Amino acid sequence: MKISEIFHSIQGEGVLAGVSSVFVRTSGCNLRCVWCDTPYTSWKPEGVDQSIDEILTVVKSYPARHVVLTGGEPMLFEESIALCAAMKRLGKHITIETAGTVFREMECDLMSISPKLRNSTPVDDPFWSIQHEKLRLQPEVLRRLMSAADYQLKFVVARPDDLQEIQPLVSQLGADPEKVMLMPEGRDRDTLNERSVWIAELCKQHGYRYSPRLHVHLWGDRRGI
Ligand code: SF4
Repeated sequence: MKISEIFHSIQGEGVLAGVSSVFVRTSGCNLRCVWCDTPYTSWKPEGVDQSIDEILTVVKSYPARHVVLTGGEPMLFEESIALCAAMKRLGKHITIETAGTVFREMECDLMSISPKLRNSTPVDDPFWSIQHEKLRLQPEVLRRLMSAADYQLKFVVARPDDLQEIQPLVSQLGADPEKVMLMPEGRDRDTLNERSVWIAELCKQHGYRYSPRLHVHLWGDRRGI
């Protein structure tokens, strides 16, 4: 499968923020978020084909029990099933980071689902804005992912009225508010700091959780962090 990078870092987002983890980043995505922070896996996918054994050799070289399979969209690739099964046999805790538009049955301890809101649509790109709008929200797929493993619903929030999309979706899915995480959109500390304050207030009002982007706070907008 095409892998853009494998690296050891600290999980920056969600309920496991702060946990030492190995990240396996697949390349290729069916969406094109306008603010995508890994355009080298979506708009201009890069990477090299690696076998499952090659990936496992790198994963095993790091002293972390947690592995995060991310992308891009790792659910696009059938090989992800065998990869997760093999990582489970190694005793790894597996988080899958997905936008929630494709379902595959696979070993997973935490399904980290990030449904994409209107703020993600690349409105200046006529082809991709249509594709993106068609695919970005699929409640039936989200439900299946939520019942396949423990889950978090992690929303990237850019403006306060994003809540008008989040609330109906959360209630349509019957999601536990404590598993709903609001995370600021932004690739630099100043933007994150500005948005953090009002997003934290929204979390207080609605019983949702706030998710930091620790990796950006620690290291800024860089690859391999
Ligand atoms: S789903 Fe993720 S990887 Fe794909 S375009 Fe959006 S942010 Fe980028």
